[in-house]
Amino acid sequence: MARRLYVMTIVAICLSLLMMMMSTVSLAQTRRKGVPDKDAMLRKRAGRIHKSSIVVDTHNDITSPITDEGFDMGERDASGKTQTDIPRMKEGGLGAEFFSIYVSSSYARDGGSARRAMEMIDGVYEQVRRHPKSLEMAFTASDIRRIHKSGKIAALMGIEGGHAIEDSLAALRMFYKLGIRYMTLTHTNTNNWADAAGGISIPAVKKHGGLSDFGREVVKEMNLLGMMIDISHVSDETFFACVETSRAPLIASHSSARALTNVPRNMTDDMLRAIGKNGGVVMVNFYNGFINTEYAKPGMPAPSQSADTATMDMLMAHFEHVIKVAGIDHVGIGSDFDGVEGKLPAGMEDVSKLPVITYELLKRGYSEKEIRKVLGENLLRVMSQAEKVSRKMKAEGAAPSFKRISKGSEKM
Ligand SMILES: [Zn+2]
Repeated sequence: MARRLYVMTIVAICLSLLMMMMSTVSLAQTRRKGVPDKDAMLRKRAGRIHKSSIVVDTHNDITSPITDEGFDMGERDASGKTQTDIPRMKEGGLGAEFFSIYVSSSYARDGGSARRAMEMIDGVYEQVRRHPKSLEMAFTASDIRRIHKSGKIAALMGIEGGHAIEDSLAALRMFYKLGIRYMTLTHTNTNNWADAAGGISIPAVKKHGGLSDFGREVVKEMNLLGMMIDISHVSDETFFACVETSRAPLIASHSSARALTNVPRNMTDDMLRAIGKNGGVVMVNFYNGFINTEYAKPGMPAPSQSADTATMDMLMAHFEHVIKVAGIDHVGIGSDFDGVEGKLPAGMEDVSKLPVITYELLKRGYSEKEIRKVLGENLLRVMSQAEKVSRKMKAEGAAPSFKRISKGSEKM
């Protein structure tokens, strides 16, 4: 009898233990289910916002492999070497891409800058010719909206490195006619009319303390054309000279915040505030070397080439800093994909990952309207503004300038 009672007690204990275990498991399941549900909902909403927004990226260097290696964007590149092709652009919900017509500083030294630019422009047109169902050339902000509506990706171009015009305002005008809609006034080299930010300079080239008189003439001519003035890569003095000279708002096609990552290519808070006031837009660069916040304090050494890792949180911190200092109307995306040797934050490895930005902004509490501004509306506004300034100047009777400089000197 006692033995039977003993067995029953053991069975009862086992049963209650089993029930406890089961309830714990089901509680854990509910918890586990609960979290992804909320996150899944957020992702779904982010996906919907992203899909219905015009996503604009202002800096992509795939143009270099297109020109130099015959790279074609038509098929997914599985080599892991590139970050851009049409299938991944579609996956990333990209509405408009500014292909970088990047002219290396070596051309300023050796000659052939304008030809190099034309070869790259030709490469972009050839990609559009080969893939007419996916790509279409865009020349205005309203072109971007129309092409986006048709389900294609708008292809635009920006010159990187003002030496591409070979000190000729006529060449600048012809580049506009070919479709160039912004020009980064310098690359790493100070040219004959604008100072570059730190980095490599050709020692023989004198500094101008910002823009020379001819540099100001270039800016005015760009205003008249309706070509956006890009201040990424220029020195701080050049930046402020542009703020002073340009009638249209400025863009930084691929720059981040210097308060978070102390490199001369990034923008100080003073510059961010000036862009806010100017009505322009800072397109945040994704390059690890420009967003790694371990180099936060001014005065600390700049990240060396080995600083080649960064996180999505660091990238988002740059977006949020620009939003805080310049304002929500003055920030956008300037990825620098295919220009940074793949040194990109984990989770933002290529153009197909762009929807992650939308998700991260939504997670941080930004409204749908604010997110659309960051994704593309801010850049579209600035581009329309540049077009408006051009129309106004023409209505005022402004005519093209034929001023010249002879190399290295300031004869006008
Ligand atoms: Zn660049």
